[in-house]
Amino acid sequence: MTSALELSHLHDDATALHELYDDSDGLHHLAGHAGAALEGATPQEVLRWAFDRFGERFVVATSMAEGVLPHMAAEIRPGARVIFLDTGYHFAETLGTADAVESTVPITLLRVRPELSVPEQDAVYGKDLWARDPDLCCKMRKVQPLRKALAPYVAWASGIRRAESDGRRGIGLVEWDSTNGLVKVNPLAQWTQDDVDRYVADNGLLANPLLQDGYGSIGCAPCTLRGVGRSGRWTGTGKVECGIHA
Ligand code: SF4
Repeated sequence: MTSALELSHLHDDATALHELYDDSDGLHHLAGHAGAALEGATPQEVLRWAFDRFGERFVVATSMAEGVLPHMAAEIRPGARVIFLDTGYHFAETLGTADAVESTVPITLLRVRPELSVPEQDAVYGKDLWARDPDLCCKMRKVQPLRKALAPYVAWASGIRRAESDGRRGIGLVEWDSTNGLVKVNPLAQWTQDDVDRYVADNGLLANPLLQDGYGSIGCAPCTLRGVGRSGRWTGTGKVECGIHA
């Protein structure tokens, strides 16, 4: 666990926020420094640091799997803004989970949608682009909408964890997101699936019912199969990430 002294040290030594907002080198440096200093901290300590550090310029993102991050964020900062990428391809259960979380957890849910609806995308690029060019589909339905939604912020949080895949093993609690030019906070990075399950049970959270139906990782319906962890995503394509956590 990170000591209060170490956390306050981060506040005291960092450059004033108003200067950092316009200084990506400063933010980049802050991300690396904070990631090292916060290693070992609890998810709540990491989230609290981010809310205190970035204030209104910090936003949380969720995939609407277990709803852990929205719940933690609301406990620390009631009314916290939470982004949900509504790609147009979600399972009904995922949309239902989003509705349930929004109505039971005191957050401000921001449903971010792509520029083109699915029928509009079909008309321009042909039906089922996800089957022919998943990278382009993800770019238009996830990467670009998220980048646009994150534009007002200097830092964002995601629920990714080191234990989810080999590619995520090296993520920091706080790191530099070069894709979006922002500080990225991963409060759950150190957690195992057991930790997540315990938090869901202890807090009576409304988890996505697909998690009880054999899905280990939940994304868009066409690209998600029942399976263990992220191996059920984009099966057979060699693709392992949608691009927002690259
Ligand atoms: S996960 Fe599949 S359906 Fe969803 S945006 Fe990516 S390619 Fe398209």
